[in-house]
Amino acid sequence: MKIICIGRNYVEHIRELNNPVPSEPVFFLKPDSSLLIRNRPLYYPSFTSDLHYEVEIILKICKVGKHIQNEFAHTYFDEIGLGLDMTARDLQETAKKKSLPWTIAKGFDQAAPIGRFIPKSRFADQGNISFHLDLNKKTVQKGNSGHMIYSFDDIISYISQFITLRTGDLIFTGTPSGVGPVKIGDILEAYLEGEKVLKCEIK
Ligand code: MG
Repeated sequence: MKIICIGRNYVEHIRELNNPVPSEPVFFLKPDSSLLIRNRPLYYPSFTSDLHYEVEIILKICKVGKHIQNEFAHTYFDEIGLGLDMTARDLQETAKKKSLPWTIAKGFDQAAPIGRFIPKSRFADQGNISFHLDLNKKTVQKGNSGHMIYSFDDIISYISQFITLRTGDLIFTGTPSGVGPVKIGDILEAYLEGEKVLKCEIK
């Protein structure tokens, strides 16, 4: 399986990092070795001193697709969850300055904690899914799928023009504003429509 992540999909987050609003979706990959499951702890990597959280809605792909038309895109995912696009912000800033890929900043081991998935059918309106992230019991990020620049359908359709989607692939759909650093001992908890689906302790 593969993990595809959308960057720059919420205007407020684009502003907080001083990035331009993209004219097309921007995406990048994380390897499957970056997955962190079952609420296991994340060990602060030695190669960064500015590890950031980015909470994001994740779509789980349920069938193979290529060149998917927007109107059919919703049939290609059947579960929705939350994940953390953990980012070594210092390494990413260096890479951006040199116009180099973000792979080491976003694709390292444990850079993709994911939570429990919920069947898509349980969401009445996919254009209005709220989520938030608590850091040590204080809410630091709040988002709603209705605020995304590119919708779930737009994202699936766009990615599939370039890359075949397969069953089990995960798509991180971008983070809202409020990203920030973690330190050892912090606890991150992510909530989807008020339901806690992910916990991650930084060790
Ligand atoms: Mg992200």
